[in-house]
Amino acid sequence: MLSVHDEAGLSLEIKDSLALLRANYPEANVRCYDFMGENAIVVAMALAIRKPNRAVSFKKKEPVLIKLDKSNYPYDPPKAYTDRTDFPAENTPHINPVKEGQPFSICLFRGDAADWFAQHNILDFVERLRSWMEDAAAGNLNKPEDDFELTRVDQDQHVVFFPQQDVINHIRTYWARENGKAGMLLSNYLGKDDEPNDPKKRRVVWLLNLYDEPIGSVLKQKILLTPDQTGGLILFGNEDFADDRYITKLPHDVATLLAWTTDRHIDLQPSLDGFLSSSLNLGQIIPVTFAIKRPRKVINHLSELEFISFLIFPSLIEGEHRIVADSVVESAALIQKNSIALAKYLSGYPETSRYSEIHYIGLGAVGSKIALHFSRSGLIPKSLIDPDHSLPHNNIRNGIINFPGSKKIDKLEEDIKQLFLGNFDDAFGIKKLPQTILKVLSDNPEIFNDGKQLIIDSTASFGVENYLTKKLKDTGARYARIELADAGNIGFLRMEGINRNPRMDDLMMEVYHLALTEQPLSKWLVDNKIVRSSHSMLDEIYLGLNCSSDTLIMPDDKVSYHTAAASIGLRSLMEENAHEGSLQISLLAAKGGQSNNIIHKVKPVVIVKAVNQPTWQLRLRNALQEQLIDELNKNKPNETGGIFIGKIDRVNKIIYVTGIVPAPPDSKKSPYIFTRGTEGLTKLVKEIREKTGEMLEYVGEWHTHPTGSARLSGTDQYAIGEIRKVLDPINYPTCVTIVNNSRLHPYIFTKYE
Ligand SMILES: [Zn+2]
Repeated sequence: MLSVHDEAGLSLEIKDSLALLRANYPEANVRCYDFMGENAIVVAMALAIRKPNRAVSFKKKEPVLIKLDKSNYPYDPPKAYTDRTDFPAENTPHINPVKEGQPFSICLFRGDAADWFAQHNILDFVERLRSWMEDAAAGNLNKPEDDFELTRVDQDQHVVFFPQQDVINHIRTYWARENGKAGMLLSNYLGKDDEPNDPKKRRVVWLLNLYDEPIGSVLKQKILLTPDQTGGLILFGNEDFADDRYITKLPHDVATLLAWTTDRHIDLQPSLDGFLSSSLNLGQIIPVTFAIKRPRKVINHLSELEFISFLIFPSLIEGEHRIVADSVVESAALIQKNSIALAKYLSGYPETSRYSEIHYIGLGAVGSKIALHFSRSGLIPKSLIDPDHSLPHNNIRNGIINFPGSKKIDKLEEDIKQLFLGNFDDAFGIKKLPQTILKVLSDNPEIFNDGKQLIIDSTASFGVENYLTKKLKDTGARYARIELADAGNIGFLRMEGINRNPRMDDLMMEVYHLALTEQPLSKWLVDNKIVRSSHSMLDEIYLGLNCSSDTLIMPDDKVSYHTAAASIGLRSLMEENAHEGSLQISLLAAKGGQSNNIIHKVKPVVIVKAVNQPTWQLRLRNALQEQLIDELNKNKPNETGGIFIGKIDRVNKIIYVTGIVPAPPDSKKSPYIFTRGTEGLTKLVKEIREKTGEMLEYVGEWHTHPTGSARLSGTDQYAIGEIRKVLDPINYPTCVTIVNNSRLHPYIFTKYE
């Protein structure tokens, strides 16, 4: 006990607390002792508690100990212990197990004790301890509906990364086969150990594999094949024995470990003997883990099996395959090892079953990041397609740091495997294809023919988009594309609809159409038009900044912003069962503005072949056909008409129709003839061209035939001749579409066809 003189040398904070305790608990006989071996004192006192009469194992005055750190109290909070060895710890939850001979440590706080004590004083602490004792005596520490209290080991030095679900599955399989008998699994661990006999060092080992097989053969054939692997044991009792005793004492050598396991109806001795006599690598630590079946699910565990782990540091008996009874045993914390199931669980995304295969094309700044986001949520790539070697500047924006000169897909694949260490046997089977998509598809034309596949194309290459748009089958893989534009201020995610309608090119038209109302898109297209005309190298605009240039200015955080938005967008699209296509645009605001996302569902387009030239087709935005038929009915018996707004692709012979303009006011409507007026049209078309950077413009004429005829009348043919006089010289197709009853009949004329 500390003398008055000794107490005078303690810190002011401790002296204040002692004075408070003595003033408030005059009956409690508050005394101070030095805490052996630590820079701390321990306050002993008798705590008066109210208890039910039936709680015979509790005392009306419970002797308790409160440990205070000499230097760091109160920032290092007090710790509470019971001061009697016959405390009914085995039947009391919230006791931290300790080594034999030490007082039982009481777990007063679920959360951080230092956080709690920062807002409380020593009297609050004692009152908390008192109510803990009263709850313990009354059996109220846990409610019956609570999960079983786990063993909170606060003394462990070592760490085992542990695939809990896999172990549970193996034990259940064993029990099912062996009629619930107690048993053992062999396991191997990774964790190189340079000083195997130094128990002071903190060990970190990974559980790699589990073997439900006899010891001898497994050890020799499967474990210990490399010097950094070590074997270990996992033991469990009978299936029908649920142990409801809390663990209060931890073994500290092999002898106490054997007694500890016997007490839990687990027979360690024969397994340990068998292990030792077969082992080739006896200098190593031996990890042993026990699965203890509890009456109900255990807190922080996945089932009613509680796992407790130790490392044995074997001292060998000279000349024998046996270890001495006082070989050191230390407890180890079991920490969940990453698994696909855990990654899915921790990411919080619901299980998606719609796409079982994800294929990445292009693994640059965007593709690598998406692949990592997805892998970290448990969606492992099926294939990685990118022929490129990493260049130094790629590392400025790539999701991973590559060694320049190495293939981009190699390091990415390695990193994904590293995420789930233990995938040594290449269980993921990620296919690495360091080739262009042209080569991949010509080598294996069937590769994307399965509707369960999702292609994520981040190549930022229009060539790739154009190629895939033509090559992919309607019933095959779903096609999604992610790209950035406008120096990283705009991000696009496009995903085609089911059966490839709307197609990737239709979704591009949707972007142009949105530029009529979305100012940032319009600005980008207009700026881009200026660049196009001054460099005269591109006559088409397409999405996507290609990072292959080492002079492109675009910061990595902007890439991450859009990539994360696209990744989140893709995840929600994958969960939906929608048949529509989707367009998501993430906009980073200029200074002071507001960044936002536009999410836009795109219904299938209507595809109509030209009557006179079936190699040409019209692709109309959803609802435009209905709008035209509506015009037909509204104007009956008269004809009516107007113009189409859209874009013409002469290479692929497509006229995209993104909007229709009804009859101008100066048009002449009658039952057999329609003469389209011009009032306001020039201004309107000019405005559309301006807003879209000339991406959308006049693409054709339409008029109705209320009589039902699909054929061109004499008047129609005359009108076509007049239009061609203007358009043929500038090599622009003439498109005249007749609307009758419920259908469209386009006629397309070009200079050379
Ligand atoms: Zn007509």
